[in-house]
Amino acid sequence: MTDNYPLTIHEAHKKLASRELSSVELTRAALKRIAEVDPKVRAIVTITDDLALEQAQQADELFARGEAPSPLTGIPVLIKDNICTRGIRTTCSSKMLENFVPPYDATLTEKLKACSPVIVGKTNMDEFAMGSSTENSALFPTHNPWDVSRVPGGSSGGSAVGVAVGAAIYAIGSDTGGSIRQPAGFCSVTGLKPTYGRVSRYGLVAFASSLDQIGPLTQDVTDCALVLNAIAGYDPRDSTSVPYPVPDYTRCLKPDLKGLRLGVPREYFVEGMQAEVETAIRQAISKLEELGAIIDWEASLPSTPYALAAYYIIAPSEASANLARYDGVKYGYSYAEPENMWEAMEKTRQHGFGPEVKRRIMLGTYALSAGYYDAWYVKAQKVRTLIRREFDQAFEKYDALVTPTSPTIPFKIGEKVDDPLQMYLSDVCTLPINIAGVPGISIPAGFADGLPIGMQIIGKHFGEETILRIAYAYQQATDWHKRRPDI
Ligand code: GLN
Repeated sequence: MTDNYPLTIHEAHKKLASRELSSVELTRAALKRIAEVDPKVRAIVTITDDLALEQAQQADELFARGEAPSPLTGIPVLIKDNICTRGIRTTCSSKMLENFVPPYDATLTEKLKACSPVIVGKTNMDEFAMGSSTENSALFPTHNPWDVSRVPGGSSGGSAVGVAVGAAIYAIGSDTGGSIRQPAGFCSVTGLKPTYGRVSRYGLVAFASSLDQIGPLTQDVTDCALVLNAIAGYDPRDSTSVPYPVPDYTRCLKPDLKGLRLGVPREYFVEGMQAEVETAIRQAISKLEELGAIIDWEASLPSTPYALAAYYIIAPSEASANLARYDGVKYGYSYAEPENMWEAMEKTRQHGFGPEVKRRIMLGTYALSAGYYDAWYVKAQKVRTLIRREFDQAFEKYDALVTPTSPTIPFKIGEKVDDPLQMYLSDVCTLPINIAGVPGISIPAGFADGLPIGMQIIGKHFGEETILRIAYAYQQATDWHKRRPDI
């Protein structure tokens, strides 16, 4: 533990393995940090301190016997509160699930548990992962540790902040349109959205099933690779998970980029982008060039401007179907003493869901209704095909694409809550990646006015190794990812 901030996974693992440090010490330090800082940033919904100390003791016993199963053994982790954890409340930051205690573990949780981790808590998020600022949490908003009057991004804001302040050594998030990468960018941590199908979604509370993907938020790229090693892979319980072998993602990490071809799609430098963001990203890309990459500064993905519109048809459509199950009968909140069945459903949904969730259900229901289906949903799916094809074509020419993670630095809390369209624009650079199903990583790439700027690197389907390699080389040559908020 370096004063307030924890070691990375790979640093901590060395010390645990050599018995220089115990998992109990590491866990106590994380819990102390949570007690000190979380009241200021509010990243965590449920702190599982008893469980954490128990798991830490078990991990120490494994190390003592020389039987630690993984580099994640004994390492404190935070899990986003839309991933089911048996016996631990999983709220989705919604009133609807405020008291929901899952009777089973998500595949993600099972896979982590197989590593003997230390689960320190569940993190705050936009309700049902709908949002870009964590202000849509029905419980409380989370604050950006670089300036607590600003948002941490979303929807995995709690997970990003947890890593940025050292409440845990790493965290797990989910990303439907940017929810790992955008908060990673806003908080200056490393966040990866894997290829659709790479990580099982079983036990992830569904938002938009064809876009949702679970991934890691970490302090550096090596840690990201280590976590991906543990969580990736085929799962018979998720029919969209893909039965490809999982490589050791740390083996591709090399400090140079000789011969790699990178495209910089011009459509991602959108109108309204902050000048400081554009400057920082262009500088970061020049750094990649210095490291040996061949840059095409004039790459193009012409359908990019339609991605936002297509996303806000497809995601709400799927959400409206997925959220139909919350009727007060099967899960969670139930309106007390209704007059009849219809009132039970209506009032449950009226009181159980927040305004953004209701907005999405209405948009989705409308787009899927007979008479409008062809004009909206089918049209959006056609646009999706075009976007996906353009990515496929681009990856015939380039090994990866490089863009800003978001068009702005973190904005003020409250600044965009009354303007959903402005809020939706936060994800213009990230959501095309979910539409295409390809992987993307956000890494720290600079600051403007003391606030973080993220760079996004996009790979082809199952091209995680290439984007991790590029991100790793960049981090070997820069130290943005080592800066910590003073909180
Ligand atoms: N901000 C986007 C939305 O509100 C993406 C959210 C996400 O990735 N879960 O839908």
